[in-house]
Amino acid sequence: MTDYRSKSWWLESLPAPITPNPNLQGTQTADVTIIGGGYTGLSAGYHLKQLNPGLEVRLIESDVCGYGASGRNGGFSMTLFGLTKGITQFRFDDRKARAAHLYMENAVDYLHEVITQNGIDCDYERSGYLLVGNSPAQVRRIEHDFKIMAQWGLGGVERWDRSRLAAEFATEAYQLGWFEPRCGILNPAKLARGLKRLAEEQGVQIYEQSPVVRFGRNGASGFRVETEHGRIDSDYLVLATNAYSILFPELKRLQYPAFTHIVLSEPLSPRQYDAIGWKCRAGIEDARDLIHYYRLTADHRIVMGGGDVSVGYAANLDKDLNATTFAHLEKHVVDIFPQLKDLRFTHRWGGPVSVTLDMAPAIGYLGEDKKAIFAMGCIGHGVSMTTLNGRTIAELVLGQQTERTEMFFVGRKIFPWPPEPISYGLVQAIRGYMKIEDCLYYK
Ligand SMILES: Cc1cc2nc3c(=O)[nH]c(=O)nc-3n(C[C@H](O)[C@H](O)[C@H](O)COP(=O)(O)OP(=O)(O)OC[C@H]3O[C@@H](n4cnc5c(N)ncnc54)[C@H](O)[C@@H]3O)c2cc1C
Repeated sequence: MTDYRSKSWWLESLPAPITPNPNLQGTQTADVTIIGGGYTGLSAGYHLKQLNPGLEVRLIESDVCGYGASGRNGGFSMTLFGLTKGITQFRFDDRKARAAHLYMENAVDYLHEVITQNGIDCDYERSGYLLVGNSPAQVRRIEHDFKIMAQWGLGGVERWDRSRLAAEFATEAYQLGWFEPRCGILNPAKLARGLKRLAEEQGVQIYEQSPVVRFGRNGASGFRVETEHGRIDSDYLVLATNAYSILFPELKRLQYPAFTHIVLSEPLSPRQYDAIGWKCRAGIEDARDLIHYYRLTADHRIVMGGGDVSVGYAANLDKDLNATTFAHLEKHVVDIFPQLKDLRFTHRWGGPVSVTLDMAPAIGYLGEDKKAIFAMGCIGHGVSMTTLNGRTIAELVLGQQTERTEMFFVGRKIFPWPPEPISYGLVQAIRGYMKIEDCLYYK
């Protein structure tokens, strides 16, 4: 088992070291088995028990809850569905893209509610999300998004022009801003561990350090999930393994893992913090293809992520570290804020995001009886969405019909990635195209 603390500063700096739950031993039965202890799995478990306390729900996690993307991400609670609004419009249609945006607004509001009403201590700040345009092409992209929002008749976004941006930030870089006040930033690992607590308080039985080695049908109407030392037979199965789904033959080709990376600075001194402004503390992204995302932590460190992605060949999930990307990210902090040229960086890490071929998230089924449900494909925008998806999955298991279960991406057709080595070549080609476009156009 890998040392979870090495996977991110968020996991390393949790208030107390994690004592893993006992692993799965022997044969158990359940109504629902959940594989994966990130936000999707934990939220699904929590909501299943909330909606039907009589259910027997068991969750199996290979390492510790929050070990995956949920314990390593940038901590932006945001409304973006898929890669861009334009791509979602193109892939589906205008009505669906608008519905997706509203689902995401609900997701952000719902996460706010879950955190505040249950007292999850995760350094949550509703400080907003700021998309900045740093070049004419980036500005045009943001203008296009404003136009789409106007066509949809939706608000919730402020336009920050140069003077508004200059009042807030001591940088020459920003030319136009898209500000969404409903969004927020948080400590992702604390959120994951907080959701674990909620799920357990509701009665979900969680096993850690228990990698699932296989799952399959058990008779006509049930499932069997097996680990090295135990197994669970259940009526329903929830597959919440996101990018790690590539490890299971049944899910392998539905999504591809891509790794995004983060660097973390030492805490800013009061002098350094005064020199850059940023008193609004909004989480910031730029409008490139391979975006940069950055924010402040509770103790005034700068988290800077993105810039490029790494991909591994044929289910190679050992791509957390990339020295070239780390160097690029450290330089980018100084590109934006030259005042911070002496800032030191203390931590570097990465993690996998799940990418479907059409770049859009999906909740789907394995089998006609719809008793095995999976969720994947949130790319780097899953903090709010996966928490709401957990509620949607619980409703699906219980056969409820709600505005969430009726969303177009539930049970949608997913185009599979081609077999290796074509997939790897395709992902590298998409990445290469984005890099060139950023270099020539978005800068
Ligand atoms: C570096 C990084 C930055 C990101 N930044 C943001 C951001 O700022 N905002 C945002 O909205 N999104 C962001 N994301 C995306 C977001 O983190 C994910 O969409 C979200 O955490 C996915 O949650 P999940 O529960 O579906 O998957 P995960 O958190 O990956 O959980 C899957 C779990 O399954 C477990 N597992 C895997 N294999 C097995 C097995 N065989 N048996 C049992 N368990 C298994 C894993 O250990 C893991 O805990 C980022 C992601 C990364 C990697």
